[in-house]
Amino acid sequence: MNAVNESVKSDATSDQASAQNSVEGQSQIQQDASNHILHPFVDNHALKNKGARIMSKADGVYVWDDQGKRYLDAFAGLWCVNLGYGRKELIDAASKQMATLPYYNLFFNTSTPPTVQLAKAIAEIAPEHMNNVFFTGSGSEANDTVFRMVRRYWDVKGQPTKKIIIGRHNGYHGSTVAGTSLGGMKPMHKQGDLPIQGIEHIRQPYWFDEGEDLSPDAFGLIAAKALEEKILEVGADNVAAFIAEPVQGAGGVIIPPATYWPEIQRITDKYNILLVVDEVICGFGRTGNWFGCDTFNIKADLMPIAKGLSSGYLPIGGVIISDRVAEVLKSEESGDFLHGFTYSGHPTCAAVALENIRILKDEKIIENIQQNTGPYLAEQLQTLADHPLVGEVRTLGMLGAIELVQDKATRKRYPGNGKVGSICRDHALDQGLILRATGDTMLLSPPLVITKEEIDSIIKATKIALDNTLKDMQ
Ligand SMILES: *Cc1c(COP(=O)(O)O)cnc(C)c1O
Repeated sequence: MNAVNESVKSDATSDQASAQNSVEGQSQIQQDASNHILHPFVDNHALKNKGARIMSKADGVYVWDDQGKRYLDAFAGLWCVNLGYGRKELIDAASKQMATLPYYNLFFNTSTPPTVQLAKAIAEIAPEHMNNVFFTGSGSEANDTVFRMVRRYWDVKGQPTKKIIIGRHNGYHGSTVAGTSLGGMKPMHKQGDLPIQGIEHIRQPYWFDEGEDLSPDAFGLIAAKALEEKILEVGADNVAAFIAEPVQGAGGVIIPPATYWPEIQRITDKYNILLVVDEVICGFGRTGNWFGCDTFNIKADLMPIAKGLSSGYLPIGGVIISDRVAEVLKSEESGDFLHGFTYSGHPTCAAVALENIRILKDEKIIENIQQNTGPYLAEQLQTLADHPLVGEVRTLGMLGAIELVQDKATRKRYPGNGKVGSICRDHALDQGLILRATGDTMLLSPPLVITKEEIDSIIKATKIALDNTLKDMQ
């Protein structure tokens, strides 16, 4: 099971919520929430009975619900609040831009100053061979843009048969029709007869669950070679691109073995296939470098971005484009690229993203993860590896995962498909800690600005949550 199946049953239940809110006892705002919102990725029937947790304010790495309970947000909202909450510079950048030019578009041969400056700032931090950005409002729209862009690229190049895009099982690329199709979340595919035509999937490099007796490195090679097998199966002349996250996020913070990415790179180069590296989570510092591509030394053709681009303060995404793709799409033969969104390059969102990048640079936040807080998180989380429930702990930069198992030696899972994960998540919430559970994998993605002391608080609360979960399972 995966992220998509996280049940609201437990998600909507904090101690206080369950104590105070029977259906009758729910507050007005909880009733209004379930009466008037169809919540995303949620069992809306169950939500009605449980009542939503209402988050009402935040500061730094903390959020507060409307009952006054404080939580350390070790998930940075949804992998995005990288600078933490309450950054005055971001708020000021938005309000200043709103007062000057709240909105204008990039259609009709126009641009706006913050959007141009943002594109230039992104080109500066992106790998050398990437100097163009197509702006969108979200990560899903970025991947819809990828879908259209790679096909357009091969069309203009005179190779229109290259249409198939290969993704991975348990990959996540958003929730629009193309995003869901490119992703490999089976429960999502079941809703709406997806994927759409022209998309194929290969296995994921998830050693813990699928590596059996192989070493991680041997398994990584096998998982990468699945791409070559798929290309040969459908014909290289029919394949436009391969898309993957550097580290699968929603799938379970799956950090591929070291052998994986070099082999993927070799295969996409050999068969002349565009390499799309979805940086929506990894981009802007999450893995301890500006991009996941820097961490794994990947040369991408396209990099979808969103989330940490603006620290989630305003919705903005995009696709960073390599020079070889940009040259084709900007060539005389190409003509109009008939694609774009009303909010492509929204100036207020762009102003916030620009300020977000400035702060990441000026405060050396990524260097600090590399040299200081990243190794500290790794070391401290590793202290939980001895716990009887824990099968593996892994981290990369400010990403972490804890695998919960019934048997440490064999990596055997508990029955119940995500049950122990959601129990642990609820125990963490009781401790005032927000973790996410994907199946029986606990995920961490704290704000990039988290301090060592705050990491200590995460470890302490997680330890108690693990102990309480073990008691429940016995
Ligand atoms: C969140 C996510 C998306 C989708 O972004 P939205 O802004 O939710 O549309 C795409 N790719 C990855 C890797 C993501 O984590």
